[in-house]
Amino acid sequence: MNAEEILERIENAKAKAGRTDRIYFAAVSKTRTVEEMKEAESIQWVDFFGENRVQEAEAKRKAFGESRIPWRLIGHLQANKARKAAELFDHIDSLDSPDLAQRLNRIAGELGKVIPVLIEVNTSGEASKSGVDPENFLPLLDAVRGLGNLRLDGLMTVGPITEDEREIRRSFAQLRGLAENARERTGLSLPVLSMGMSGDFELAILEGSTLIRIGTLLFGPRNYA
Ligand SMILES: *Cc1c(COP(=O)(O)O)cnc(C)c1O
Repeated sequence: MNAEEILERIENAKAKAGRTDRIYFAAVSKTRTVEEMKEAESIQWVDFFGENRVQEAEAKRKAFGESRIPWRLIGHLQANKARKAAELFDHIDSLDSPDLAQRLNRIAGELGKVIPVLIEVNTSGEASKSGVDPENFLPLLDAVRGLGNLRLDGLMTVGPITEDEREIRRSFAQLRGLAENARERTGLSLPVLSMGMSGDFELAILEGSTLIRIGTLLFGPRNYA
């Protein structure tokens, strides 16, 4: 694991951005074994695991046992997996429709818990990406804020697939702008801006990310066998 190098790059990006606040770190553990995840758990500045599939996470969470680190769902959530996801994950970061929000809220109520969530926004315009379109963000925000068993912590996005740094920064800046609008509209503090992966986390830090999601840089290339 490249822990030292990652930490140094985060510190450099923070210095460049003139930031001294804390940036949280999610180890994106999709496709990784429980053994690899245990190793990541032992790195003290790793704050979360990020998994993108409910089924994979279910098997691993059982095998993992007690975890120092909360688990976040960062992949698209289908309605029929909402209950399982609500049982399994400590955070759900991929809220992308009023229907899903209502369903999760009802299930959370039945489970007697409040689920911390992020709204995922598609800021890249890429059809393959999940997340609510920016023009549908406010209606979704208004739907979520009325739901007592969901706690809205902030926003998440996945940057565009391009080498063009301006384009990537535009995407992250858009998420930051939406969060600012949402704070004004709701009075919520919405502290979490989850953006930045192995290929673009430094740009995300420059644009105000408070939670980066790193897989490849930490664990090495993924092998989808
Ligand atoms: C896989 C994934 C990541 C991590 O990607 P890397 O490029 O391996 O760092 C981050 N966020 C989401 C939503 C992902 O699906």
